[in-house]
Amino acid sequence: MTDVAIVGGGVIGLSIALRCAKRGLGVAVHDPAPGSGASTVAAGMLAPVTEAHYGEEALTSLALASLALWPAFAAELGLGDAYTEHGTLLVALDHGDRAELDRQHGFYARLGLASHRLTGGEARALEPLLSTRVRGGVHAPGDHQADPRRLHAALLDACRAAGVAFVPAAVTDPSTLDADRVVVCTGARDLLGLPVRPVHGQVLRLRGPAELRLTVRGIVGGRSVYVVPRPDGEVVVGASSAERGFDTAPRAGDAYELLRDALDVLPELAEYELREVRAGLRPGTPDNAPILGRTADPRVIAATGHYRNGVLLAPVTAELITALVVTGEEPSALQPFHPRRFQ
Ligand SMILES: Cc1cc2nc3c(=O)[nH]c(=O)nc-3n(C[C@H](O)[C@H](O)[C@H](O)COP(=O)(O)OP(=O)(O)OC[C@H]3O[C@@H](n4cnc5c(N)ncnc54)[C@H](O)[C@@H]3O)c2cc1C
Repeated sequence: MTDVAIVGGGVIGLSIALRCAKRGLGVAVHDPAPGSGASTVAAGMLAPVTEAHYGEEALTSLALASLALWPAFAAELGLGDAYTEHGTLLVALDHGDRAELDRQHGFYARLGLASHRLTGGEARALEPLLSTRVRGGVHAPGDHQADPRRLHAALLDACRAAGVAFVPAAVTDPSTLDADRVVVCTGARDLLGLPVRPVHGQVLRLRGPAELRLTVRGIVGGRSVYVVPRPDGEVVVGASSAERGFDTAPRAGDAYELLRDALDVLPELAEYELREVRAGLRPGTPDNAPILGRTADPRVIAATGHYRNGVLLAPVTAELITALVVTGEEPSALQPFHPRRFQ
């Protein structure tokens, strides 16, 4: 019998596995294909500011707490330039988009999140590749980013080095596992009867000269597109959002719309190499917040439903769930995210 069985080896499961192993617990991760879920599709924005939405203030607080843990987390995993702190530039093209930009800037200000309103010229001074059609911008220096594929690979290495065992098999009933505690982190695949649903999201991976520095988010004709550059020249363009069950096939129409909007904002991307088109399943929940805490079976803990922000939320999820596993007490920070809120 092991101390902790973790079901699911995406960024959430592995981050918890690593924390538990470093606290001296015996840990086994059960997953037939670790890294086959959303974690290796994600763009990797760590964006508590430009991902903040009305009515999701508790989630924004959790996201800010997680962002504060990121520098030490990245250093612990040796992520190097796979983690950068360059900020996000939100830009608008036409008059209607500029009104939306002002609305979002006002909302960030009300939450006390650092953001600066810019003219089109000021935005282009920060990011010279922006189209001359850009009419205004908001700079959010507090948003960062990490390469989720390098993060996942680093977590696998760190878990193995910390003595975590890997069991390459799917679990159908977590309550049957032979462990003191079972933590279920299966992303969009719900095993616990929780209201988690798959939300199809598509991204494109391009490669070009490493000229872009900031993450650029465009509001284009009322739609959203983001462009996340990495220091090695990879550029991730995303992301669509649709309810298509467990279908992970990428769609031609989604690719068309993403490229059209991204090129409106950053025309130079037309010359970049198109490397990959891929879709994954965000684990969506009714209130867009994760589900973290003890289930009806007190031995079984949920750590799922991270929806759009699982990469960002990995360190804080690992800290809070490990505290619950080790002490048996639920940290108060888990309260807004408890599975009971849906009863
Ligand atoms: C297009 C897109 C863009 C995104 N961009 C961002 C972003 O910029 N920033 C951000 O923070 N987040 C982003 N996300 C969200 C993020 O990817 C997810 O929230 C996060 O990856 C969830 O991690 P996870 O470990 O819970 O799930 P997953 O990564 O999906 O992992 C689940 C694991 O569980 C395993 N599993 C499933 N069923 C079983 C079973 N029965 N038994 C055993 N194992 C099982 C799977 O094999 C898989 O390895 C994005 C998502 C998508 C799709």
